[in-house]
Amino acid sequence: MILDVIERIETDETLPESADVVVIGGGIAGVTATLFLAEAGLKVVLCEKGVIAGEQSSRNWGWVRQMGRDPAELPLTIGSLNIWRGLDERFGIDTGFRETGITYVCRTPREIKEFSDWAEIAKETGMASTVLDANMIAQSFPGVSNRFSMGLHTANDGRAEPWRAVPEMAKAARRLGATIIEGCAVRGIETSAGHLSEVVTEKGVIKTERAIVAGGAWSRLFLGNLGVNFPQLKLHGTVARVEIDGNAGDMPVGGGDFAFRKRLDGGYTIALRNSNIASIVPDSFRLFGAFLPTLLTSWREIQLRLNGDFMKEAAMPRHWKLDQATPFETIRTLDPMPSETYNRKSLKNLARAFPIFDGARLTHTWAGMIDATPDAIPVIGPIASVPGLFISSGYSGHGFGSGPGGGQLISELVRGITPSFDPTPFRMERLSTRGLKPGSAA
Ligand SMILES: Cc1cc2nc3c(=O)[nH]c(=O)nc-3n(C[C@H](O)[C@H](O)[C@H](O)COP(=O)(O)OP(=O)(O)OC[C@H]3O[C@@H](n4cnc5c(N)ncnc54)[C@H](O)[C@@H]3O)c2cc1C
Repeated sequence: MILDVIERIETDETLPESADVVVIGGGIAGVTATLFLAEAGLKVVLCEKGVIAGEQSSRNWGWVRQMGRDPAELPLTIGSLNIWRGLDERFGIDTGFRETGITYVCRTPREIKEFSDWAEIAKETGMASTVLDANMIAQSFPGVSNRFSMGLHTANDGRAEPWRAVPEMAKAARRLGATIIEGCAVRGIETSAGHLSEVVTEKGVIKTERAIVAGGAWSRLFLGNLGVNFPQLKLHGTVARVEIDGNAGDMPVGGGDFAFRKRLDGGYTIALRNSNIASIVPDSFRLFGAFLPTLLTSWREIQLRLNGDFMKEAAMPRHWKLDQATPFETIRTLDPMPSETYNRKSLKNLARAFPIFDGARLTHTWAGMIDATPDAIPVIGPIASVPGLFISSGYSGHGFGSGPGGGQLISELVRGITPSFDPTPFRMERLSTRGLKPGSAA
């Protein structure tokens, strides 16, 4: 369903023999890296196994927010929002970005505590966040039910259109000289004297000394074949588009058990907030220790399920030779089935909170696999055990908003220039304190 609505762009057919940088994966992490590297005048080739933005980057809610982020990644998130603001004008594109503000409304003591704590962080960092009481919520959202006693509003957060934003950025990258090849899975890399020397794709080899792994939910599998242990698990999120009679406002709103965002096509993207399914798969056991602290603090938001995913992942090869077809060629686009139960619940919860959604008509439903690291912060930087290889992945459900910041940071690290953001919170090595040895066998 989602592939029908993604904006498709013209791409390239011929694989260049060489490149300054090869980017592996055409989601927002890979496309923004390509865009900024091409803008800086480098010869960049992006290889995407399926279609540009076919996975998470077109399936997300479209929220571009700073609110609620881990303080360690806030500078990157704030910087990323600044990039979003100027992106359309800078590159002559239309990502659908609007600075609408975002509001969370709270009902339970737990929700109130979460956002009161976050309001303190916002105060310390000088963010434009305002605490709302019940009267202010009623004034801001005529028609809201009277269930909410506290809210947090950040005026300069925003939203964009996932089905269009990343393809538009890819178009701009091509105009700046980047080569973008769809249907081109990268199988692995070759090294020479210990340094990256070639990227091996299903369509041939590209000579290069620098490459960026931006494979979203596939980055762990890709790096595992190189002996690099990138701790990453997947969470299944269901989303829907609805239409209503009337107008529920321009601003994305989240509650404890619902979320909605106005779309530029007139509908609303809705979801059951704080509800993702974590299938139990072989990696759940391999990475149990690393993810246990997250599971203990976030068990309410994660529903563990033993289902067919276990056998599917168990049957997937974890090691291959570069002249063999890989799982990246078998599954061109990760397109999980949405949960109809979650859709029903999200509509019910939404209509209870905002009665204007009562009788909303469901027009599209889809799901995406969110890739998560143990501390829910992406890894952006060099991979020490493979000189020349970099990673920008593990965006843990935040990457649509923080993707352009991540793209800028990795493009600067690859070029060896002083980065605009402190890269320390994003180093792969930080994960070793979680009982993992990144770089050891996956
Ligand atoms: C349901 C849902 C809701 C979300 N809501 C939000 C939100 O509101 N705001 C927000 O900020 N974030 C949100 N996110 C998270 C956000 O979408 C992701 O963090 C972000 O899109 C990740 O981008 P990426 O480029 O790392 O990965 P992806 O977009 O998944 O792209 C990775 C690409 O790499 C390709 N690839 C992988 N391996 C290879 C290979 N070997 N060779 C070639 N290509 C390869 C894949 O085919 C894929 O296209 C949401 C995610 C989901 C699923």
